[in-house]
Amino acid sequence: MTSDSFASLPLTDSFLANLDSLGYKTMTPIQAQSLPSVLEGRDLIAQAKTGSGKTAAFGIGLLHKINPAWFATQALVLCPTRELADQVANELRRLARSVGNVKILVLTGGAPMRPQIASLEHGAHVVVGTPGRIRDHIGRKTIDLSTVQTLVLDEADRMTDMGFYDEIAGIVSACPKRRQTLLFSATYPDDIRVATEAFLADPVEVTVEAQH
Ligand code: ADP
Ligand code: MG
Repeated sequence: MTSDSFASLPLTDSFLANLDSLGYKTMTPIQAQSLPSVLEGRDLIAQAKTGSGKTAAFGIGLLHKINPAWFATQALVLCPTRELADQVANELRRLARSVGNVKILVLTGGAPMRPQIASLEHGAHVVVGTPGRIRDHIGRKTIDLSTVQTLVLDEADRMTDMGFYDEIAGIVSACPKRRQTLLFSATYPDDIRVATEAFLADPVEVTVEAQH
């Protein structure tokens, strides 16, 4: 077994079989560097270029912890745009096939509020959304984030560039203090480092340099 084999991770046989059926034979470098710490429950800052497999690096980590029998928002993933939120949700749904009945709800701006509120009343295990819309639901008290165990900031550099910092800070404070926080980014400049430091507790940092 090589160290970049998913079988080196503490995952169930059915989880590994599902990864195999998705054609995921070996971990990408960012997955190999992130997943052992993520599965130990550590906070993480991971930096790697687009297309390097960051979704599965946090997706496997958060899905591994989901208890399908507990119908509460156990994981929240923030993404900069509606398109990226849809892509992440689709990847999470493929990865979740082996976990049981995991409901993944997308909450993004531009879509009408009423159906989102109805879906939230029904509940979900994982919410994937854009910061503005999640903040909106918090303000209306239509979402309860007090059960979140894993918070993911995906494409943190883009979310910060788009001016979402205040929304993210508000969302973080609606989550429990005791949680796992995972930050993924293509770049991690100093201003984002300073701005996001308070969201993470003793994070492991991994960086995969672009291949030239
Ligand atoms: P990023 O978020 O870093 O831009 P994605 O998570 O969107 O990258 O992944 C890029 C593509 O690689 C997706 O099509 C995904 O399904 C695929 N992929 C991810 N991990 C693996 C893997 N271990 N083996 C094969 N394909 C993978
Ligand atoms: Mg991505």
